[in-house]
Amino acid sequence: FHPDTYSISYTTLTRFPPVKLLSPLERKRILVTGGAGFVGSHLVDRLMLLGHEVTVIDNFFTGSKTTISHWIGHPNFEMVRHDVVEPFMIECDQIYHLACPASPPHYQFNAVKTIKTSFMGTLNMLGLAKRTKARFLITSTSEVYGDPEVHPQHEDYWGHVNPIGPRACYDEGKRVAETLTYGFHRQDGVDVRVARIFNTYGTFILLSHLNPADGRVVSNFIMQALRGEDMTVYGDGTQTRSFQYIHDLIDGLIALMNSKETRPVNIGNGDEFTIGDFARLVRDTVKKVKKEDDGVETPPVNIIHKPIPTDDPQKRRPDTSRAKETLDWQPRWTVEMGLEEMVRYYKAKLTEGSL
Ligand code: NAD
Ligand code: UDP
Repeated sequence: FHPDTYSISYTTLTRFPPVKLLSPLERKRILVTGGAGFVGSHLVDRLMLLGHEVTVIDNFFTGSKTTISHWIGHPNFEMVRHDVVEPFMIECDQIYHLACPASPPHYQFNAVKTIKTSFMGTLNMLGLAKRTKARFLITSTSEVYGDPEVHPQHEDYWGHVNPIGPRACYDEGKRVAETLTYGFHRQDGVDVRVARIFNTYGTFILLSHLNPADGRVVSNFIMQALRGEDMTVYGDGTQTRSFQYIHDLIDGLIALMNSKETRPVNIGNGDEFTIGDFARLVRDTVKKVKKEDDGVETPPVNIIHKPIPTDDPQKRRPDTSRAKETLDWQPRWTVEMGLEEMVRYYKAKLTEGSL
């Protein structure tokens, strides 16, 4: 035995990105449910960099430990495998309640579980907020407006949701979660924030065996175009969506949490595309990036049509005037900028063989 064999050079240990140093008064104890998912992992990164103490609870249904594993071992970070359907005890100042699958194939995989997650999970987290007096933010969704008859959608619109269709487990789950949130607010004085998030896309750190296309349209189209496969437009492609880049959403969520606004706030980008036009934009972006980065001219991939899913909303665009007025927030990323960043990321992952 020689002690040198077992010694570590601590000076070479630089495992973590530098986090901001906050005074104990400024540093918040923040719980993020669903923190290992797409939005959650970006939120965790930002909160950690800002110098807060972050605890993630996640059952890893659609999320993965790898998305936030770069923080494991950091004194400000903790990750717990936990299903929000069961109560959870912790002392905290703020709760970002995200836990819930968000991609249609994922939330329809087990509809009853999705409803339980939305209802019981939100009930448990609101109970925790009541006991600890933590501020509670729920990530609700534009799906509360259903297939809207009002365009663009303002927060005062009550929505048009089929309560028994295949999307209802998610849409009605979120609607009842909002109802619960305002019930605890009015009855128990819980300090609440409600973000109604519109379609958001962005990069996502994944294990190689996981499919980077999680069923949602942006990642599906990018992976299909990068692999030279047919791009699948559901229906005739005239339905619209408005796409927001992940960094704008994270800005909006943190601004909302730290604002005084207790009413629901739409967070989304007003750039509205038909899905057909969007498929062509993704195809052109992939072609452009391949040409710029590799100097290769690739043949255009085909765009094919598949049946439209039941109850697929015909149009969707946020009215974000409330977010602008009360949070001084507005999106900064154009769809073109966000798409290029995302295409470059997935292209690099495909090239290095890690996807
Ligand atoms: P995601 O599926 O990538 O992440 C959800 C996370 O919650 C995953 O890590 C998953 O494992 C976890 N989870 C699911 N059920 C759970 C349970 N019962 N207990 C504990 N953890 C559980 O989805 P996302 O896109 O990151 O969405 C995050 C939140 O934002 C969701 O509440 C979603 O409804 C909302 N939202 C997202 C979008 C979007 O476009 N991404 C739009 C509107 C609303
Ligand atoms: N969509 C599509 N091809 C795909 C995936 C989705 O044409 O490969 C369509 C889908 O029918 C919907 C839109 O794209 O009209 C957005 O779908 P997504 O699942 O991303 O989100 P949501 O329907 O919840 O807005």
